[in-house]
Amino acid sequence: MNFFKTPSLLKHIYPSLTWDKFQDTNDLEQKKIYLTFDDGPIPELTPWVLQTLKSWHAHGTFFCVGNNVHQYPELYQAVKDGNHRIGNHTYNHLNGWNTDNFLYLKNILKCEKLLSSSDKPKKKLFRPPYGKIKLKQIQQLLPRYQIVMWDILSGDFDPNFNQETCLERCIQHTRPGTIVIFHDNYKAQKNLTYVLPRYIEHFTKQDYSFDTL
Ligand SMILES: [Zn+2]
Repeated sequence: MNFFKTPSLLKHIYPSLTWDKFQDTNDLEQKKIYLTFDDGPIPELTPWVLQTLKSWHAHGTFFCVGNNVHQYPELYQAVKDGNHRIGNHTYNHLNGWNTDNFLYLKNILKCEKLLSSSDKPKKKLFRPPYGKIKLKQIQQLLPRYQIVMWDILSGDFDPNFNQETCLERCIQHTRPGTIVIFHDNYKAQKNLTYVLPRYIEHFTKQDYSFDTL
């Protein structure tokens, strides 16, 4: 894994992107954590995430892949019904570094058409797959989107990553205003199903709450 906790240098280089919500004093007082789930919705795992969040009265933000929304509209509806927030993660999970700028934007707009907008007056949310996005693409997207990166990469997607270590590191690096990435995709299933309930339990007991972005 490249890095687990986003280096402050990277945050400094790209200040127009959202990396965390540490500056928000309200969050510091209220001890909020922002759970985000990338790549869904998919059968079994997304409903499991929704059920887990519900049982802890937690909310999160789901960065959906358009093609999955297209295939599983009922799962997408279930995410929306749970009062979670939706973000765009492109239609085909494209890597911005390898994709022509025009095609990248077009793919994002194709996804946007499927995600009915309830974000007003806030900007829509976008997260680049793999965190890989070119400066020009950022410039094209910023008038329309808040581009959300992360403070903690859980590493759930790496099946060789030990579950206990994954949980420990997530806990160790979390502070009020943290944005943490999990994945509702099958590669992450083993780690996610271990880490998520324990992570939420740990911080709920410390009076944290889990809110949408
Ligand atoms: Zn992704």
